[in-house]
Amino acid sequence: MTNFTTPLLPEMAEIWQQTLNWKPNSQQQVQFQQLYELILEGNRQLNLTRITDPQEFWEKHLWDSLRGIAPQRQFIPSLQEGASVIDIGTGAGFPGVPVRIVAPNCKITLLDSTKKKITFLEKVLTELALTNAKTIVGRAEEIGQQSQYRQTYDLALIRAVGAASVCAEYALPLLKQGGLAVIYRGNWTEEETTALQNAVTQLGGVIESIERFSTPLSTSIRHCLYLRKIANTPAKFPRPAGIPTQKPL
Ligand code: SAM
Repeated sequence: MTNFTTPLLPEMAEIWQQTLNWKPNSQQQVQFQQLYELILEGNRQLNLTRITDPQEFWEKHLWDSLRGIAPQRQFIPSLQEGASVIDIGTGAGFPGVPVRIVAPNCKITLLDSTKKKITFLEKVLTELALTNAKTIVGRAEEIGQQSQYRQTYDLALIRAVGAASVCAEYALPLLKQGGLAVIYRGNWTEEETTALQNAVTQLGGVIESIERFSTPLSTSIRHCLYLRKIANTPAKFPRPAGIPTQKPL
């Protein structure tokens, strides 16, 4: 087993502090380490992630997940007040599991269409003793049409699941009015913002802001798109499974 905490995580404390104005406590450091080790173990049977180098894992999975809800944006305080959060297409648990680790009072739902990944995440939740967390096996297009989930979340997170308009169609129906969707992207252009505008409007949202930043170790460019839901999403969205990707808005 790779030795992750010593000395890697203590070395990163300064970077957490400088970049996010926050750093993990000792319990959170242990939970990050456990998550890393469980993913390495799970990778033997499942294709969970190609990112297995400890520093790369720290930067591309842990840091990147938390940058999207960075404390200077005041998200973590609101998360600690018990917000309902959904991570759509969570895969090996990103960004949802790190978010749950840093915001223990939020209620997080991890959604993925692949049952094996959700089975793996149930083990992660148990071993890390993460309460206030549930999993759903299902497609975002179907879950977004079910009344027990539709319009019930304060925050929807979605990373590496598809084109931005597809992510918007998955996320906005699940949000309460006033809720926020965070779409994690790599590169992003102004032309893409213009093209996304119409889709977001149709779904009852607005593009509130777009943040560009670089990752702290490899200085790779990232963007996060913040979409605010300001009106009810019309009942026809999300469209049936597969349609958002075949015919993006
Ligand atoms: N969000 C994770 C991350 O950034 O590491 C995983 C990204 S992985 C490339 C995409 C994940 O989205 C896969 O686990 C896949 O099963 C899931 N997925 C794709 N389409 C989906 C849909 N329509 N509904 C739910 N999950 C979906």
